[in-house]
Amino acid sequence: MSQFSECPTVSLIAGDGIGPEIADVTVKLVEAAGGRVQWERVSAGMGAAEQFGDPLPAATVESIKKNQLALKGPLGTPIGAGFRSVNVALRQQFDLYANVRPTVTIPGVPSRYSNVDIVVVRENTEDLYAGIEHYVDARRSAAESIAIITRFGSERIIVYAFEYARRHGRKKVTLVHKANILKLSNGLFLDVGREVAKRYPEIQFDDMIVDATAMKLVVMPERFDVIVTMNLFGDILSDLTAGLIGGLGVAPAANLGGNLFGMGEGGSCAMFEAVHGTAPDIAGKGIANPTGLMLSAAMLLDHIDQRAAADRMRAAIKVALLNDETRTRDLGGKADTKAYTEGVLRALKA
Ligand code: ATP
Repeated sequence: MSQFSECPTVSLIAGDGIGPEIADVTVKLVEAAGGRVQWERVSAGMGAAEQFGDPLPAATVESIKKNQLALKGPLGTPIGAGFRSVNVALRQQFDLYANVRPTVTIPGVPSRYSNVDIVVVRENTEDLYAGIEHYVDARRSAAESIAIITRFGSERIIVYAFEYARRHGRKKVTLVHKANILKLSNGLFLDVGREVAKRYPEIQFDDMIVDATAMKLVVMPERFDVIVTMNLFGDILSDLTAGLIGGLGVAPAANLGGNLFGMGEGGSCAMFEAVHGTAPDIAGKGIANPTGLMLSAAMLLDHIDQRAAADRMRAAIKVALLNDETRTRDLGGKADTKAYTEGVLRALKA
């Protein structure tokens, strides 16, 4: 039985720039595909900073805390002292330690490859992004950023990657590291990976140095299945894999935390988001490509056990992207946001 109610409430953060345009059509599509969710609109980012003087208002945090589910458009971070990245703040606040980025070739979307099906599972809270940096002296003659890798953090993300593989019928997990140079921190991550792999004998396991991984991803992406890695490498490699399928415009993502697969305490918070930015250059022009957010919403439906609706969404998106008339301009098509959305909705009814 699903742990989710028939119609769960989801905090919806439309976001900045093109965010509101792509959020509106995504909501429309979820509904048309038969997704049963109640949206609770809250704000964050530049818009919230202007309206409430805070890019992450308490009401938004409360809403996510209550619902444990969120769909988020791109957020701008106000420039100026005291404002930190809202995305980072949300990840820390809800301990969203697993960043999951599936990248699958979408027929019709211009790309160099036709056979990519990779999921990057990135640790989201540790490593060089733990936020521990300082200048070594008052003259700023040097600066240090410290990478923290813990056994706890490594184990939970690697277990997550294997559980993901098991539940999604994936065959292989590749752990990416630089343990030949960073022998302690990355060595720890690799050691934990080898220990965890023994618990999943049905799933192949290998490890690869990050520089070799970057090269092999470009030369033969088909050799990869699930990749699990630390924060910095995951940040870079997940954009690389998005590039293999046509760019950030079509890439969905999930940030998950808490009690995943029985690890950790209490509930589990899940936030789904498009990985592209606010695209201020095209905001308000009606030409934004909403695919990334739509596919993120489909991941949300998978997560809340509404897989049939999620599959319907993905199938309809595929149909619309195949056709020049309904594919958006950033992907070489002729459609604006409205024409694309209409194409997806038509495909849904067909
Ligand atoms: P931010 O400062 O929020 O990161 P950015 O413009 O620097 O914004 P992106 O928003 O990722 O970074 O955009 C990079 C380029 O890709 C821009 O030219 C933008 O117009 C384009 N782009 C990004 N997302 C989309 C989208 N969903 N649809 C169409 N074009 C997009």
